[in-house]
Amino acid sequence: MTASHLMNTYAPNPVSFARGEGVWLWDVNGKKYLDALSGIAVSGLGHAHPAFTKAINEQAGRLIHTSNHFVVPEQERAAAKVCAIANMDNAFFCNSGAEANECAIKIARLYGHQRGVENATIIVMEKAWHGRTLATLSATGSRKAQAGFEPLMGGFLRVPYNDFAAIEKIGESNASVVAVLLEVLQGEGGIHVADMGYLRKVREICDRKEWLLMIDEVQSGIGRTGKWFAHQWAGIVPDVMPLAKGLASGVPIGACLARGAAAKVFKPGNHGTTFGGGPLVSVAALTTLEIIERDGLLDNAARMGQVITDGLRSGLAGVAGVKEIRGIGLMLGVELDRPCGDIVRRALEAGLVANVTADKVVRLLPPLVINEAEARQIASIVSATIKSFLSEAPAAAAA
Ligand code: PLP
Repeated sequence: MTASHLMNTYAPNPVSFARGEGVWLWDVNGKKYLDALSGIAVSGLGHAHPAFTKAINEQAGRLIHTSNHFVVPEQERAAAKVCAIANMDNAFFCNSGAEANECAIKIARLYGHQRGVENATIIVMEKAWHGRTLATLSATGSRKAQAGFEPLMGGFLRVPYNDFAAIEKIGESNASVVAVLLEVLQGEGGIHVADMGYLRKVREICDRKEWLLMIDEVQSGIGRTGKWFAHQWAGIVPDVMPLAKGLASGVPIGACLARGAAAKVFKPGNHGTTFGGGPLVSVAALTTLEIIERDGLLDNAARMGQVITDGLRSGLAGVAGVKEIRGIGLMLGVELDRPCGDIVRRALEAGLVANVTADKVVRLLPPLVINEAEARQIASIVSATIKSFLSEAPAAAAA
């Protein structure tokens, strides 16, 4: 292979995919793989979904881009649909999860300034992941990702995840707080799931203190956990919700949704983007949401998540080295007692695309369209791969 002209930002596996269909991918050599990653929680409809492909093909043939200097009817329709399913008032469309979080951070700051809070401060979580732009990297709780990019941005106060007392304590002493930003399940952080009671308490303190509750559903949203949004498991509604990933099935998108006072913060000139909410991506988002609804994919995600979880629990029962199997719906993690990055390579060899995050957590994010036989197959390949890895990589040597 000739030298790459790509910047040295990734360490890709030596596999290139040529095509996909449903939950299946084929590499350039014709080898078939079961996709338990969905391009990191993006391809919820699976690959080459016929109705989705038709809709974006037709839109590409009509009109791709005009800019936000003009009314974009497709964007209006996508906003109306996503706000309806999310119980939110309005949406700003951008191009990635990081940008969706940037928008949330800007809303919180402006909300604070409009209320006379000079150093508007956002409470963020340990092990959180909100993106790699400088603001979202500063909000992210990974020293590894932040290292070398200092000075980081101020205006964030970090607390342990799932620790309500820590938030309450800051609330007592700090009048600059304007918002709390958190994930219901920390995806990149290792599939850590917040207690539903904790989330309800955070909602209450935000109401009481007039802070904005900003729930980052970039990874957990759009049906992944078996509801449209993971926070719905706790019966709460955020004030601000960044989205991306699964919203447009792989056409790059981000969206920041807002409700109530948060929805009234921006005026023309406060925020914007060239590409966000163009006709093509808006049709991609609208069609994605319609297909998920039409085909009952929320229910499918919940049921198939249970099939995989049950399969993993029986396949890995009593296996030393397996610490915990956790997650909701099709956002699942198996935590091992040792670093296990090599599982990705082993899984690929066995014809499965999976991922390891936070060093020790095998992460599964299969498409929402998965069927029962495929779900069982994922559980069985993952269980076998984990067992062979654990038997060959002793804890002490590997750690
Ligand atoms: N927020 C969460 C919860 C994420 O999981 C991610 C990416 O993994 C992001 C934000 C950043 O999204 P993007 O990579 O599209 O900028």
